[in-house]
Amino acid sequence: MTVKIDPKRYLEYGGIEPARSLDGTAALAYLQPKGFGENYLEQSRAAVKRRAGEELAFEPGTANYCDFCARPLMGGEYDLLQDGRERCISCSRTVVTTNEGFVAIYQEVRRNLEIVFDIHFSVGITVRMENAKAIARGTNETYQPTPGFDARVLGFASQTTGGYELHIENGSPKLPSIQTIAHELTHIWQYRNWNEQAIEAKYGPGNHGLIYEGMASWAMVQYSYATNEVDFARREAAYTRSRDDEYGAGFRFFEERYPLRVDGGVLRDTPFKHALPL
Ligand SMILES: [Zn+2]
Ligand SMILES: [Zn+2]
Repeated sequence: MTVKIDPKRYLEYGGIEPARSLDGTAALAYLQPKGFGENYLEQSRAAVKRRAGEELAFEPGTANYCDFCARPLMGGEYDLLQDGRERCISCSRTVVTTNEGFVAIYQEVRRNLEIVFDIHFSVGITVRMENAKAIARGTNETYQPTPGFDARVLGFASQTTGGYELHIENGSPKLPSIQTIAHELTHIWQYRNWNEQAIEAKYGPGNHGLIYEGMASWAMVQYSYATNEVDFARREAAYTRSRDDEYGAGFRFFEERYPLRVDGGVLRDTPFKHALPL
């Protein structure tokens, strides 16, 4: 959008002398005590800007991290789950316990994903809450808790005759659940919109996981930034970037091609706009 400025008009933004009848200094002195100039919106804009250039380093294994949000654990302030996972206090506070709670979160994430990435899910998706064992079976992951951050997928998507099913782990905290749903919905979008043969022909069959997981990991981090969960997004990005598997390598490729937009602005180019994303 271009704004045309008529230099004869009111505040004269065109770069010419300000009107002599306006007393800018007095006007500023009048507005500041009324809360203009240093209010909380300006402060949070400044904070986002300050942090935009910072890189968060993630050092696996050197400290105790919450297994759900990758936040460092301080002292004894965390819950040790039966299976050995450590969960920070703020994650414990937001555990989603009911099926209705999950469905509400799922609907919100689906709606937001459609808005943020300008896409549309035109397929039936059923959400199922399941226990950790069933999830581990579905994702083919073996799980061995350690003091560091234990990445564990909290869900997976599967195809059924009527559409898709989204399986999410019972007892997951809210933000990690949102991330998982955004990640898995991205997979469903890929299954619906990508031509698998074309993807494999271009990138090689051995790079299937790199492309699919890389984009889903990129999308879940970008989703958190776009919905203003900046701190969570930064930890997730730092952790994913540091992984030495196809999630990490894929994420780094996608991040290079589609730099993360961290200020909440509109996304102009995303992998969702390309049949061959890299
Ligand atoms: Zn946590
Ligand atoms: Zn995935």
